[in-house]
Amino acid sequence: MKIAIIGSGAMGCRFGLALKESGAQVVLCDVWQEHVDALNLNGLKVVRQGYEEFVKLPAVTDIKSIGSVDAVMIFTKAMHTEEAMKQAMEVMGPDTPAATLQNGLGSLNVIERYAGIERTIAGITNYQSDLLGPGAIAIGEDNPMFYVRLKALNEKSEAVSKELCALMKAAGMNCEISDDIMKQIWEKLAFNNAMNMITALVRQRDGYVCRSEFGFELSADIAREVCDVALAEGVNADYASVIGTFEKVKSSMHMPSMLQDALLLRQTEVDAICGAVIEKAAAHGIGTPILKTMYRLIKVLEENYETQVTQLH
Ligand code: NAD
Repeated sequence: MKIAIIGSGAMGCRFGLALKESGAQVVLCDVWQEHVDALNLNGLKVVRQGYEEFVKLPAVTDIKSIGSVDAVMIFTKAMHTEEAMKQAMEVMGPDTPAATLQNGLGSLNVIERYAGIERTIAGITNYQSDLLGPGAIAIGEDNPMFYVRLKALNEKSEAVSKELCALMKAAGMNCEISDDIMKQIWEKLAFNNAMNMITALVRQRDGYVCRSEFGFELSADIAREVCDVALAEGVNADYASVIGTFEKVKSSMHMPSMLQDALLLRQTEVDAICGAVIEKAAAHGIGTPILKTMYRLIKVLEENYETQVTQLH
């Protein structure tokens, strides 16, 4: 199976690696020239539990050069999905679906708008990856709570979704075809809202937020607001299950991608993760005071990276 991963940063590289390990022909596609050059020159540097290895994985900036593929995986940040899909269409044949495991709301709709429902595979994951620099990622210890869930939106892409799932399983990932993908997407969305913005604002890894009584309480209040909006959307997101994940995260040392973005002074996914929920809440007449506060704080952070205070003098 030939797979193009469009957006080959932390997660794109991690999934590219897994799919290659189970025998797929993977091409990493990214707009970041320095990263692509490092990948082609040295291979992907993977740091796993203190050990380093270099894995050969071809990478391109010019997607047209790779020819048509059997599946596309979109792994940009949500705000770059539209650009990624424009490129994806160059290598997607009439039966080539595009899959997403991105966080937030909106990417799925963009993919469907370009590829049509017949060629759209929804998904969600809580596997993690940290980008160390051009051509290099760090992967933490595997954890039984990690999962990938996929679901073709139409039977025409079911075979490819099953094949992708089988490849991930063969690489040792806990991947399943979902029987309620929107529930899983919203529960992950509640978790991301509850965790990512706090970690970016207080500059702490997720485990420390969950270990703090105040961090835990704030996260729980945020998750409650998101789950209420999900219910109004007709999605049965389970608040108790989201809270349960906070307990499991207490020992985690992960930097959620919003924290990684804030450290790198980059635009975050706050619009897709938080802004989109606030919009949906407003349409249902639901108040989301905590989400709105967190959203505004992240916007202040993003707008003022240059003048950020990092020392007393
Ligand atoms: P990242 O910033 O590390 O990687 C995104 C890559 O997309 C970058 O290398 C960027 O150069 C590239 N890109 C941007 N525009 C592009 C375009 N038009 N065409 C091709 N490439 C383009 O982000 P990430 O951490 O890998 O996150 C990707 C998605 O996965 C996000 O939605 C994130 O929320 C989600 N996610 C991340 C993690 C994690 O641990 N990092 C875990 C679960 C889900």
